[in-house]
Amino acid sequence: MATLDRDVVIIGAGPTGLTAALELRKAGKSVAVLEARDRVGGRTWTGEVGGATLEIGGQWISPDQTALYSLLEELGIETYERHKAGASVFVAPDGARTEFTGEDFPVDAATVAEMRRLTAELDVLAAEVDPDRPWEHPRAAELDRVSFHHWLRGLSGDEAACDNIGMFIAGGMLTKPAHTFSALQAVLMAASAGAFSHLVDDEFILDRRVVGTMQGVSLAMAERLGDAVHLNNPVLRLEWDADGVTAHGADTTVRARRAILAVPPNLYSRISYEPCLPRRQQVAHQHQSMGLVIKVHAVYPTPFWRDKGLSGTCFGPGALVQEVYDNTFHGDSRGTLVGFVSDVKADELFALDAGERRARVLASIAGFLGDEALNPDVYYESDFGSEEWTRGAYATSYDLGGLLRFGPGQTDPVGAVHFASSDLAGAGYQHVDGAVRMGRRAAARIAAELDG
Ligand code: FAD
Repeated sequence: MATLDRDVVIIGAGPTGLTAALELRKAGKSVAVLEARDRVGGRTWTGEVGGATLEIGGQWISPDQTALYSLLEELGIETYERHKAGASVFVAPDGARTEFTGEDFPVDAATVAEMRRLTAELDVLAAEVDPDRPWEHPRAAELDRVSFHHWLRGLSGDEAACDNIGMFIAGGMLTKPAHTFSALQAVLMAASAGAFSHLVDDEFILDRRVVGTMQGVSLAMAERLGDAVHLNNPVLRLEWDADGVTAHGADTTVRARRAILAVPPNLYSRISYEPCLPRRQQVAHQHQSMGLVIKVHAVYPTPFWRDKGLSGTCFGPGALVQEVYDNTFHGDSRGTLVGFVSDVKADELFALDAGERRARVLASIAGFLGDEALNPDVYYESDFGSEEWTRGAYATSYDLGGLLRFGPGQTDPVGAVHFASSDLAGAGYQHVDGAVRMGRRAAARIAAELDG
């Protein structure tokens, strides 16, 4: 058992923790990063499956994600554009399949008009909300009291329009049913990406990918940090007071003047704190929970959909796989599709055996793109819900009323312990960009404290 003395111990070697460690190093502080897994990157992870490179976790970057872009520039990492050319496919809840181009779903004119109206309403609110302080919006209390599902239906009697708009935030982002989180949480999601229209626009929100994969960003940071990163060191006990901490990993103990807890909030209670955290935190942390989504990967000999003039982008609000995209890996001659099965549909799918899951998922994708989708060379389901050190996907969000009640204090340090993760971000919330922002913010705050 090694015992180290450092200025700062960082718990978690995901993008947040590693960014914080790099920034603290630059500020002249000594750091140690304790990571539970045998790898860095957290919810970003590259898999080699059947000879294909798959991004099992986070991968896309959008134009507003300037913090991540600046980190990529610092690390000398390039990006490439996702394949977008061609028509998209929409499968209506009654099973009707339509190919379309442009921004509007091919639904009846009245529903298109309603969707535009709801989008405009959400864009106005998102523009008014400061993503770092959504609870300060004058209507915050009203919006945090009502579920997103019911809020939409209060604005429109068009069920299809409400379902279609709801999908972009519920199944598409928070990966929870729209009745389980508030309208304020939905507005935060939109504001964190600059606008609700950005979430609707797959060409914006899924704009580019990272050459060498998104986990490569964490690997590059870890390389710079060298032996400061200690893998296979879950921290299960943390002694703390106002002046410092002692973090107990499996084979490494770190005494430090400050700690950054850079793990998703649903895992805070995995650690025994001595003394226990104050009442406020103990209660607050129970109100942030992970969503659940299955990211499904299917690799084919060629990107067959492109030959049909299709982009590979598909939407089906009633389908098992509600979104599909071309996810062909940089420089690969084969074609890869990625699809998403979210929240209650993921529950239902996981109740089936592996063979039946595969058959159902591929049948759903074939409903969009044709029977060629039924027989991929490689098929893989990302399952972060089964990972002890994540327990869901993509990220955490508050239950109804939780954002207003507990959000304002969510990044307040407790003694020497600071909290940071993409789950606590304003801009870039739930995304790697938010992780970078939170890592930098925590590092700057601690460096100032230690220098002050
Ligand atoms: P994490 O990445 O979760 O890192 C936390 C680290 O802490 C982990 O390595 C974990 O092992 C470690 N840890 C936990 N508990 C302990 C402990 N007690 N002791 C020591 N270590 C501990 N974002 C995008 O920007 N674009 C996308 O396309 C995108 N798609 C996604 C798809 C999926 C399937 C998933 C799961 C996520 C996706 N995300 C995406 C989200 C993105 O991956 C996360 O926002 C980001 O990884 C969060 O970084 P983090 O460092 O805050 O947390």
